[in-house]
Amino acid sequence: MFVSDIIDEGKEKSLQPIFYANIDPDHFREVVSNLIENAIKYTPSGEVVVNVTGDDKQISISVKDSGIGIPAEDIPHLFQKFYRVDNSDTREIGGTGLGLYLSRRLAEAMSGNLRVESKYKEGSTFYLEIPRMNSSEAKQRSIYNANDQKFSS
Ligand code: ATP
Ligand code: MG
Repeated sequence: MFVSDIIDEGKEKSLQPIFYANIDPDHFREVVSNLIENAIKYTPSGEVVVNVTGDDKQISISVKDSGIGIPAEDIPHLFQKFYRVDNSDTREIGGTGLGLYLSRRLAEAMSGNLRVESKYKEGSTFYLEIPRMNSSEAKQRSIYNANDQKFSS
């Protein structure tokens, strides 16, 4: 379940419209938190904006920052295991270089993809795109899941 506008009804905040996807929520959370952690880590001053949009077929979650950006020659290698950009902006910032490698693997396991657009010294936007499930299928599945729980208890 995802959102684009935040609706504040006192106790609970919800997002509209609701998008449904048939994915492992732990995997989804892992990818989005990796992207947000990176955006914060590589933005010494500036802002990080998370957005959710969708069409009939897919849901797109973007994490945009106004941080150090990524040189064009590093972009093709970014999702390789242990790859870290090595320049004067990144030298003081620690990490293993596994976050994006893992995140892309998880995105692909969700039948989706993970890609980046970036300009060195200006900022980066990472996009996680996953297939959207239509709401009638989502309702069917939630009825089945509710029945499963009823029968198994
Ligand atoms: P960790 O495994 O702890 O996440 P890491 O952050 O170095 O370590 P990745 O998340 O895989 O590793 O990112 C790989 C490299 O991509 C980083 O070392 C950094 O150079 C670059 N990078 C990732 N996200 C950003 C970003 N938002 N802005 C600028 N550079 C980034
Ligand atoms: Mg990282």
